[in-house]
Amino acid sequence: MTDLEYRKLLKKFQDQSFSRTGNDDRFKLPEIEIFYEGNTTVVKNFDKISDAVNRDQDHILKILLGGLGTAGEINSGRLTFQGKIPSKSIQDRMKEYIDTFVMCSECNRPDTHLVKQARTILVRCDACGAFRSVKSRKRKVITQTSEKIKEGSILDLTIKDIGRKGDGVAYLDKYTIYIAGAIKGSKVKVKIEKISGSVAFGRILTT
Ligand SMILES: [Zn+2]
Repeated sequence: MTDLEYRKLLKKFQDQSFSRTGNDDRFKLPEIEIFYEGNTTVVKNFDKISDAVNRDQDHILKILLGGLGTAGEINSGRLTFQGKIPSKSIQDRMKEYIDTFVMCSECNRPDTHLVKQARTILVRCDACGAFRSVKSRKRKVITQTSEKIKEGSILDLTIKDIGRKGDGVAYLDKYTIYIAGAIKGSKVKVKIEKISGSVAFGRILTT
């Protein structure tokens, strides 16, 4: 083999092993790039993240929203959450997603795919052939967060913003709560009078 041939071969091998970082034991997720826009949180490289974990964007979205207790949508590769979500929370939920739906429990590699079997989802490993079921520990979290607010609930809230109509605005989980007559920065005891989707309306309780 000539030196040139050898170098070409070496280069080819290096390129291959470089592009196949998915086979690396230490699976590295691209850094989640977020910014805040109004009262939303935008993950601007969501397409890269879904590529890296090799899962359906809608599936990742569904699980993240459940874990974070908020609403959100995907738009041209970006993921927008309602509310200001700390990047640490998004990272933690994403790690949970990877642990639950991506990593092989046997060889600890991310080269897996999901298989639906009857009512359970299995994570099947393409590298070693092992499979395990996905534990649905997320369901509890969803129930807990959505049970926090009911019509008639009495909550202590901090008014973070003033809405367009002059109402005080507070945030709790996925809810944006409008409270008439509340002053920005104040802490108020509020009775929830109406909930519509992720929007709630409350009244200040005078003590
Ligand atoms: Zn495996």
